[in-house]
Amino acid sequence: MAGKKLQGQVAIVTGGGRGIGAAAAARLAAAGANVVLTARSEEEIEAVAARLRQAKGRAIAVPGDITDPEVVEEIVESALDQFGRVDIVVNNAGVIWPLEETADADPDEWTYNIATNLIAPFLLVRNVLPLMHDQGYGRILNVSSDAAFTPVSGASAYCAAKAGLDMFTRVLAQELAGSRVTVNTLYPGHVDTAMQEDIRSVDTTGTRLDTTWFHDIHARGELANPTRIADLIYWLVGPWSRTRNGEFFNAGDAAWAAQVAHDLG
Ligand code: NAP
Repeated sequence: MAGKKLQGQVAIVTGGGRGIGAAAAARLAAAGANVVLTARSEEEIEAVAARLRQAKGRAIAVPGDITDPEVVEEIVESALDQFGRVDIVVNNAGVIWPLEETADADPDEWTYNIATNLIAPFLLVRNVLPLMHDQGYGRILNVSSDAAFTPVSGASAYCAAKAGLDMFTRVLAQELAGSRVTVNTLYPGHVDTAMQEDIRSVDTTGTRLDTTWFHDIHARGELANPTRIADLIYWLVGPWSRTRNGEFFNAGDAAWAAQVAHDLG
């Protein structure tokens, strides 16, 4: 894989403690980026940060709940204190819960889903945009889901949040047009992470929910490895994405995947 193309850049990766976020953080650190990891589980992000430092990367862990505006400010301040700038934001943290029919869903849990999947990316973007404009450089990547355009019974909050995130990307891209800051979206497809385990753990007995398909793709070994998605994220925030703004990239797009494989060597 070619050189350290992100040398000296600073990347904030939300949800960096496991799954897609941990793999993306490792990929960006290996490319030379200084990485700021955040999630609620301090142990998980500290462990990832320690692994990246052992591999001669530069990484810090800033624990907290990104639904809290003060935590989001602290994440950005920590990035500036430690590394002096913010070049890349990967809005990756997400929750799937509640997985229940709408009539049974707990309002607080529903609201928390929207706060994590939609409002937190807004908060983080709002905090970093002035810095990125001052620097004359910025790459924002929102990790969305097919659930943004494919309704999934039982996942009304998640689907609504991801659909909202996609429109947020569109509006932001329009506002950023002509600047040196870009925003794009990744649909990662189905990836072998704790979130898929969460879906498979739901007891659908006596409900209208049907998770058979999720069990089947798992049983058939069709879930993607997070490291494959991390390569796509690296491409999307790296030099290859220079001219891309307001675009929606799908991990299942074979032509794009081939281009990424070619570009990353
Ligand atoms: P995951 O393994 O469950 O990881 C989610 C990460 O987000 C964890 O590090 C989690 O850490 C963090 N997080 C959740 N809520 C948070 C909050 N309020 N504040 C701070 N951190 C929070 O899930 P994943 O599959 O890697 O998901 C990553 C992204 O990909 C999500 O946006 C998800 O919607 C999207 N996605 C995944 C799939 C898939 O098949 N896996 C498919 C489509 C889209 P803590 O719990 O410690 O906070």
